[in-house]
Amino acid sequence: MNKLVYVIGIDLGGTNLKVGAVSSDGKILFRLSVSSDIKDGKDATIKRILHSIEEARFNVRGLRLAGIGFGFPGLISPNGVISNAPNLPDWEGASLKNELADKLSAPLFFDNDANLFALGEGWLGVAKDAKSFCCLTLGTGVGGGIVLDGNLWHGADGMAAEIGHIIVEPDGVSCMCGGRGCLEMYASASALVRMAKEGVGDGSSVPPSADAIAQLARSGDPYYRGIFNKLARYLGIGITDLVNLLNIDMIVIGGGLSQSSDLFLESARKEMRKRAFKVPADRVRVVPAQLGDDAGIVGAAFLALNLEHQIKEDQRNPT
Ligand SMILES: [Zn+2]
Repeated sequence: MNKLVYVIGIDLGGTNLKVGAVSSDGKILFRLSVSSDIKDGKDATIKRILHSIEEARFNVRGLRLAGIGFGFPGLISPNGVISNAPNLPDWEGASLKNELADKLSAPLFFDNDANLFALGEGWLGVAKDAKSFCCLTLGTGVGGGIVLDGNLWHGADGMAAEIGHIIVEPDGVSCMCGGRGCLEMYASASALVRMAKEGVGDGSSVPPSADAIAQLARSGDPYYRGIFNKLARYLGIGITDLVNLLNIDMIVIGGGLSQSSDLFLESARKEMRKRAFKVPADRVRVVPAQLGDDAGIVGAAFLALNLEHQIKEDQRNPT
């Protein structure tokens, strides 16, 4: 009798490491989330990843592990070589495949975390009926993933979908990418806090987190509502570019800040409708993500399932 097949999806973030065992029909059989402790360095985090995979395997013992998908917060090749990792600088140049392959018996697949977020929402989330869509993750920074006709768009060098670094203010705030006025500097959680501080002198009275600012805005505080309106305007300008460029079915807004989407999403839609061409603006739906914290592991699982399947097909039908 064939054993039931599952895959493991890994979502490594700057704060949390999430690991899930997912069945081939998309059921999350087991999930865990631990601190990624990146400050202890790469080797400590790799140990933690291996330990978490073991824990997942133990919890679904009896089933057959078909592959492991890995979402990394930076630029990573399909072979697991990391070439850019702004939040994990000591990982640059490392090969995750080399570090993990001899300790794991299953095939390994790698992609950027925001790309996998998009795959997750496309498989089981809000975008499951959309053929072409963009995902934006509004967190500490702004991540992006672009799915066109059902496939991730990686670009010639794997650098596509840096939606956080499209320019929305030509002479705006300097960004760590070297540019100025990037969307990330106006539509992320850290941008929200910065913009709130900018408006009040020394800024010491401003709450230090986007959640706290959202609470004040929701209670009707006009100053903080205004900060959200400012963020919404820039987000609307950014998504106008995506709508005019790609004529996509959907834009999915995820990340921690999307929990406050009641404070900015409708204004961002209005800004986009005011600026974009009418036909693509009428088509596109701008909606909050649906899978919450699970999107990354679900997308990583989808990557592993799909690519494992493709490899088998290729072996069956060699060209
Ligand atoms: Zn930038």
